[in-house]
Amino acid sequence: MFSRPEDAGFLPVAQLGSLVATLTALGYQCLGPAVEHGAIVMRELDAPDAIPRGLQAEQAPGSYRVTRDPHDRYFAWANGPQAIKPLAFAPQESLWRVERDAAGALQFAAVLPEPRAQAIIGVRACDLAALALQDAHFLREGRRDAHYARRREKLFLVAVQCAEPGATCLCASTGDGPTPTAGYDLALAELADGFVAMAGSANGEAVLEALNLAPATRQQLDMAQKQGQDAAASQVRSLPGHNLRDALMSRLEHPRWDDVAARCLACGNCVAVCPTCFCHAEGDEPAMNGQSSEHARIWDSCFGEAHAHLHGFDVRPDIRTRYRQWLTHKLATWHDQFGRSGCVGCGRCIAWCPVGIDLTEEVAALTDSSGQPSPGPSPRSSTPSGHRGPASGRGG
Ligand code: SF4
Ligand code: SF4
Repeated sequence: MFSRPEDAGFLPVAQLGSLVATLTALGYQCLGPAVEHGAIVMRELDAPDAIPRGLQAEQAPGSYRVTRDPHDRYFAWANGPQAIKPLAFAPQESLWRVERDAAGALQFAAVLPEPRAQAIIGVRACDLAALALQDAHFLREGRRDAHYARRREKLFLVAVQCAEPGATCLCASTGDGPTPTAGYDLALAELADGFVAMAGSANGEAVLEALNLAPATRQQLDMAQKQGQDAAASQVRSLPGHNLRDALMSRLEHPRWDDVAARCLACGNCVAVCPTCFCHAEGDEPAMNGQSSEHARIWDSCFGEAHAHLHGFDVRPDIRTRYRQWLTHKLATWHDQFGRSGCVGCGRCIAWCPVGIDLTEEVAALTDSSGQPSPGPSPRSSTPSGHRGPASGRGG
């Protein structure tokens, strides 16, 4: 499972708290799983032994319920509604501020965050893959986003192998999980009596050294590897394993778009929970006294009317075109932008859609399950409204 299994250590289950204590001593604010409003979220751990045992989550289209793991493991839950994304790409933040000085002149100043170093314990492989995509967007050469960069560089990621994926998970088919292979500082695979632990960065090595673990045995490494393989084989949902760009872009007039539009509420939940979506809007918040104003950025969604409003008309005037924009950007035109699909298989958009729309079902219906293109208009031709596909960097 790990990139360098010969360097793996073994953390006995009774010593999990020492990982939290070590990270805290190194100056990190430690975040781990907690139940809030009926869902598993990442919250600050107020003590080394504060990671809860036995949490699990039952997920299905339009449904999420926290349950108990009969084996009382620490990480037997599949992902909750959010993981890393809000910690690097803040849901709402000021970008700059303008104030009127004593002479009445306007003074502009950047507002930059001063985040604490944070260690997130329990990150999943799908979220590591999603973070790599967020990095590709926000940290690209020449257009580095200072707000994202400041938060991102403060993160220490403790990944955990998913041994029991949810019924909505499909990361095996997208090639992103369930075993973390890259992008972590430290990776854990939970066995009955402890954790196989492997560093993925210099910071992770420093933490492993401080923990002074015994090397993982061949048997423990084999068990971790088999656990990952079994977890991948247990996933009941999937997307076709090949590039869907041509298959989807040649079906822009498929009747299934009307069918899904009749069910979709355009609520934007799928976008809010998707770890790869990066759309945002910007706006000004002037103070009542007229002396200052904040320029803020807030998460936005391609399901919203305003998102598609350009120069006096709507380029996507109905739910059919907005859902189509979301799915074709995510699974088709992301390949043009980032060289891969925008789906990392976390399944959140399925579980958190209030009407249970399942992108794997929609893709199967649109592509007759094959994912192969049908004869039709050129994939690069204009849309029926005369407008080309999404502009680079806008949709997410
Ligand atoms: S499209 Fe859905 S399954 Fe894919 S990464 Fe986004 S939320 Fe997860
Ligand atoms: S697909 Fe579901 S979650 Fe997404 S906008 Fe439509 S109703 Fe909301």
